[in-house]
Amino acid sequence: MKLGIFGGTFNPIHYGHLRAAEEVREKLKLDKIIFVPSGNPPMKDRELADARHRYKMVRLAAFKNRSFTVSDIEYKKKNKSYSVNTLKELHRLYKGARLYFILGIDAFIDIPNWWQPDKLVSLTDFVVISRPSFRFEELSSSPYLEADGNILKRLDSGKIESYKTGLKGGRDIIMMRLTALSISATLIRKLLHQDKSIKYLLPEEVESYIISTKLYKIKEGGKTLKKLKKQR
Ligand code: ATP
Ligand code: MG
Repeated sequence: MKLGIFGGTFNPIHYGHLRAAEEVREKLKLDKIIFVPSGNPPMKDRELADARHRYKMVRLAAFKNRSFTVSDIEYKKKNKSYSVNTLKELHRLYKGARLYFILGIDAFIDIPNWWQPDKLVSLTDFVVISRPSFRFEELSSSPYLEADGNILKRLDSGKIESYKTGLKGGRDIIMMRLTALSISATLIRKLLHQDKSIKYLLPEEVESYIISTKLYKIKEGGKTLKKLKKQR
């Protein structure tokens, strides 16, 4: 069994995530994609919706695709969860499965700042996906990747669609160009703060959930920003 593991804050999940998961699943003939929404961090972040909400939104987004499932491993944890532990747990849960850890270029670049990065890159194979505003060439500074700069340039220009090589530690890394969708959760939250439409950037079910729960409304002393502006 081949499983794609797609972690993130998913604050909220959007079509950039969903389309990427579907394309990776199809290209690598994966049996399933397991979304792993992160839990609550120890220090509260005003911009980050509670893990319960983010987990629910990922479930709403994933349920129509039979190859998508959602893991509560990180969301249920009281303490901060680390990808190293999540991957170890997934290995235990899916004995014998081959795991592919899916990340955007921006997230892969950040790995040296994660907990036990050397261990992390030894635990699974990696799939690093393209994302608008980021170039594969930026990976040439990664301490974990030994790739010819020319190949990274060829990926960025579209001369090649994907490239598989080795990571330090012996695992595989597959770099893959996907349909460029310039959507981010930051953009969605910004639009909501400005009371603008978020339609067609994320599934309708998730949009309705955000509207009905009033998630991402910045509160100042209990009032929404819109109400405050009206008063001024
Ligand atoms: P934020 O703007 O809050 O950081 P985000 O849109 O980057 O949100 P994350 O939950 O941080 O979403 O990302 C989870 C994973 O999905 C990361 O590996 C990220 O690189 C990848 N990703 C997010 N958006 C896209 C996109 N539009 N195309 C490809 N990959 C994406
Ligand atoms: Mg992000």
